[in-house]
Amino acid sequence: MRISGVTMWGVRLDLKRSYRLSGGRLLFEHLDSTIIRVDTDEGVSGWGESCPWGSSYLPAFAGGVRAGIAELAPAVVGMDPRQTDVVYRAMNLALPGHGYVKTAIDMACWDIAAQSAGLPLVDMLGGRSVEKVRLNSSISSGTAEELLAEIDRAREGGYTMHSAKIGADPESDAKKMRFLAEQMGQGEDVTFDCNRSWTTAQAIAVLNETRELTNVIEQPCETYEQILHVRRHVSQPLAIDESLVTLGDALRMAADGACEVAGVKVGRVGGLTPARRIRDVCLEAGILMNIEDTGGTRLQASAAVALASTLPEPFPRATWLCFNQVVQDPVPEGVVNENGWASAPTVPGIGAVVDEGALGEPLEVFK
Ligand code: MG
Repeated sequence: MRISGVTMWGVRLDLKRSYRLSGGRLLFEHLDSTIIRVDTDEGVSGWGESCPWGSSYLPAFAGGVRAGIAELAPAVVGMDPRQTDVVYRAMNLALPGHGYVKTAIDMACWDIAAQSAGLPLVDMLGGRSVEKVRLNSSISSGTAEELLAEIDRAREGGYTMHSAKIGADPESDAKKMRFLAEQMGQGEDVTFDCNRSWTTAQAIAVLNETRELTNVIEQPCETYEQILHVRRHVSQPLAIDESLVTLGDALRMAADGACEVAGVKVGRVGGLTPARRIRDVCLEAGILMNIEDTGGTRLQASAAVALASTLPEPFPRATWLCFNQVVQDPVPEGVVNENGWASAPTVPGIGAVVDEGALGEPLEVFK
C-alpha cells in the first residue's frame, strides 16, 4: 500500500463563547483548524487534523501547519502509511522539529493502518484498558463568580472534573482557589491551571499560602526549569502541560520527579507516534496523564480518546473535548460526551466521520 495523495482543507471553528487563558492575558474567539485526507493506491483513506489553540497559546499556528504540510506531503507520497514509525522518520528527515505539523499526517497514517487491520485505533495503540475516560471541562479565566458560573454550566453537561484557568495575580488567585475548592461536591475535582503565568516567586508564595489545598496545580510557570524550581519548594501535586513537547522532555520530567501529572496533548507532542512513547515513559514513572489534543474537531478528539483509553487505572486523569466548545463541528460522528465521560470508537480506524461537504473547497492537493 502506498500513499497516493494528500488533500488539505482549512476550517474556521467559532467558539460558542469567547475564552480567556492565563489569568485573562490570552483571548480566543475562534480556532483555525487544518484537516487532511491521505489517500492510498488501495482505495483506503485516512483523516488527520492539526488545530493549535489559536496562535498565542503555543509556538504553533495554523499558517505554520499549512506551510509545513506543503513541505512534508511530497516526502510521504509513495510511502506505506501503515509503517507509522518509518513515515515519521521520513518526516523528521524532511523537516526537523515542527511536531504540531506532523501530527496531522501521523494521525491519518494511524487511521489507515487501523482500518487496514480491521481494528479500532484504541486496539492499534495497545488495547482498551478502560471502557470510558473522564472528561475535563475547560473554565475560562475570570472572577471567582464567573469561574463558578462556568463550572455550573459544565456540570449541566455531566462534567465532574474541571480545569479552572487562573493566574491573574497571586492574591486573587489564592482567593479563587479556596473559593472553588470549597464548591466541589462529592466525586468532583478542580485543577488550577495557570498556563505559565506565575513567576517562580509568585508560585512558591501562593502555593505555600494555600498549602491546605491538595488540588493539582498545572503549568504554574513559563518554563520547565522554573516549574522544577517551584517543585522543590511546594507540597501540592503539579502538572506539566505546555512544557512537555518532546520525548526528551518526558524523560527529564520522569528523572527529575518534576510532576505528578502530565498533560499529553497529541498535537503539541507531534502526533500519536510520539504521544504513545511519552505515555509509556509516564506509565513507567508513575505519572498520571491528561491525554487530549490542543483543539480542533471530533476527529482529533476521537484519536486522543483512543490513546487515553489505553491507560490502565489509575493513570487516566481526564480528557478535554474541544469540539464541545465550538459552534459547528464538520465531523458529525466520533466520540461523544456521555454525561461527562467518553468511550473510544469501536469501528475500524479512528472512527470519526468527516462531512467533506462541510469542509468547502480544499486549499491544496499534493500528489
Ligand atoms: Mg493546561
